[in-house]
Amino acid sequence: MGKHQGTHHFCNSCGIATHTHVRRPDAGEEYVMVQVASLDDLPVDDLLAAPLTIVDGLHDQWSDVPAQISHL
Ligand SMILES: [Zn+2]
Repeated sequence: MGKHQGTHHFCNSCGIATHTHVRRPDAGEEYVMVQVASLDDLPVDDLLAAPLTIVDGLHDQWSDVPAQISHL
């Protein structure tokens, strides 16, 4: 088992990923990551204007920006 656990949730109708419930007991954190692009009523302009945070999950450095992000 890794340092954190995530429970992935999917739409019952079409199967797309909607959100993930993450538990990180080592960091004392618990949060939900929402796949905002899956929201039917979210205008594209609002999605594009939304704040974006990129973190280095590959290396379990959730407070750091990855060294390479140009491909994102
Ligand atoms: Zn659906």
